[in-house]
Amino acid sequence: MESKKQINRLYTPGPTPIPQQVIDKMSEPIIYHRSQEFRDIFARVNKNLQYVFQTKQSVLTLTCSGTGGMEAIIVNLFSAGDTVLSVNSGKFGERWGIIAKTYGLNVVEIKIDWGKAVTVGQIIEELHKHQNIKGVLLTHCETSTATTTDVKNISKVIKQNSDALIIVDGISAIGALEFYFDEWGIDACVTASQKGLMMPPGLAFIALNDRAIKACQLSTLPKYYFDFKKYLSSLLSNDTPWTPTITLIKGLDEVLQMIVDEQMENIWKRHDHLSYTQREGLIKLGLKIFSDKPSHSVTAVYIPKEITWEKLNESLIKKHNITVASGQGEYFGKIFRIAHMGFCHNLDMQLVLDALRRALS
Ligand code: PMP
Repeated sequence: MESKKQINRLYTPGPTPIPQQVIDKMSEPIIYHRSQEFRDIFARVNKNLQYVFQTKQSVLTLTCSGTGGMEAIIVNLFSAGDTVLSVNSGKFGERWGIIAKTYGLNVVEIKIDWGKAVTVGQIIEELHKHQNIKGVLLTHCETSTATTTDVKNISKVIKQNSDALIIVDGISAIGALEFYFDEWGIDACVTASQKGLMMPPGLAFIALNDRAIKACQLSTLPKYYFDFKKYLSSLLSNDTPWTPTITLIKGLDEVLQMIVDEQMENIWKRHDHLSYTQREGLIKLGLKIFSDKPSHSVTAVYIPKEITWEKLNESLIKKHNITVASGQGEYFGKIFRIAHMGFCHNLDMQLVLDALRRALS
């Protein structure tokens, strides 16, 4: 009997589409993780993850979604009573502050209007006001507003004005937006598998430099499963402290090979081009872009007065099997978001633009 199952076209900023060869890889029989075969795979994965982050430092693989990785950074690098500066320009920047407060950190927050990005001047001002800041928590792409933070220049001024650790949520940026962990002097960066890395959810990756590893030695917050010291020690023999998600790691091996073949510079250029095509197409449809500093990985657009979010969403799903993302928080019903992240090409942009044209006409 002919299958009635249609392709679900995902334009959500996580999860993102998974290449078929990666799905095939993950359907292979499971292997034992304390075997040479797994260690060889994991060695390759670890090396290629360093390439993705553009670092010679260690990259840890954790079994959890991105938020788990964010929490792991806080509990490993800080102690209760430490002061951190957190930029809240949307749902995920806000999350940094909430996690830090949960663990008894003193949070100085810069609150930015949704759709705008923090400026270098605002960061300098807070660093001068609060001399005891131990870490600055940034979000490279604020997914809720589809806005990019100028991590490169902000990192420069943090270094010029303090000794604070520079911590980046790169969850919807790594594998899409230009990023140089070593060159930009980032101390810790987290990403997750289900975005630019073209994988199912379930893994978080954390790059740490020597300053961050030193901070781990000083941290007194309780931890066990996510204790970075255990991961760093296992990594020396391409091993994991606990049973890893073997199936996902096999898929990751395949995905990282695709990334190495395409090369990071080309991937960044592709995303740059995709976001430009998307914005240009949306403007031609008479739509208005939400963000002041639009991201290359996801675009947020105002919903026009003539249609509700519910109607627009229903039309895209029912007629075209296209799933885009709603606005979040107070922007639910006001904006929607279209991702162009990971396994995404020019034709995918044309497809969603055409479907939107039909839905709006
Ligand atoms: N930070 C950012 C920038 C994100 O886009 C997301 C996921 N949308 C998260 C954090 C949370 O990640 P997860 O849902 O994988 O826990």
